Amino acid sequence: LLPVIYVITPTYTRPQQKAELTRLKSVFLHVPALHWIVVEDAPKKSQMVSNFLESSGLTHTHLHQSTPQEWKLKDSDPKWRKPRGVLQRNAGIRWLRSKFAHDANPRGVVYFADDDNTYSVELFHEMRDTHKVSVWPVALVGGVLVERPLVGSNGQVSSWLAGWKADRPFAMDMAGFAVNLSLLLNKSGVEFSIDAPIGFQESVFLEKLITQEELEPKADLCTKVYVWHTRTEQPDLKQEIRLNKVGKHTDEGIEL
Ligand code: UDP
Ligand code: MN
Repeated sequence: LLPVIYVITPTYTRPQQKAELTRLKSVFLHVPALHWIVVEDAPKKSQMVSNFLESSGLTHTHLHQSTPQEWKLKDSDPKWRKPRGVLQRNAGIRWLRSKFAHDANPRGVVYFADDDNTYSVELFHEMRDTHKVSVWPVALVGGVLVERPLVGSNGQVSSWLAGWKADRPFAMDMAGFAVNLSLLLNKSGVEFSIDAPIGFQESVFLEKLITQEELEPKADLCTKVYVWHTRTEQPDLKQEIRLNKVGKHTDEGIEL
């Protein structure tokens, strides 16, 4: 029996949300033994996401956890200003903790998958066998084409190739690692911290779990790219906004 991959995805309401979730669904449907934990950044679960997951054909859990207003990004803030998805990922971790509260050695793998990245089916094949924490390259992130762990001749991660702060203890994006379920749950209280220094979210989390020598390099010793930190352009809604002012909405009676 394959260990189940628990994929935790924070998501929030916006015009392209269903498109993002659809791209993920299309890949996840090709991955056996995957359990999708979708956590909406909202005061309650939305009908759209509920319907979407119900009809997805995927094993899923639908949660919600809103980010307090004072932690939200304002339009004027640069993107890196405040952490996004932190409380939602933690809600997913807590759900796993309570699901396996009476299981001393739960089998599985945990992966944190933002809703706007691009994932390949191969990525999930790579992470399936994760004893502690496995790692691999992530493309289009941190101002470079690819960020990746550098692997020494002993097969261990020796350092990091990153455009920004390569001296972080774990200079990796959220999309670049997966954690063994037992390791995560047996270290009580390990979560993402809302007050980690900017850009240190992943590093601070991993420091609580593992040492660099213990990391398991995947994707042909971290020489293959199976995930891209893509970002979606804001849709042009100028005409929609104009129509809304005269009481017209093109999505009346239509869910998108
Ligand atoms: N996110 C969220 N609430 C927000 C903003 C973002 O739940 O107010 C989610 C988003 O859907 C994504 C994750 O947090 O799954 C990371 O956000 P984003 O992709 O904007 O971050 P970046 O690509 O800039 O690292
Ligand atoms: Mn993103």
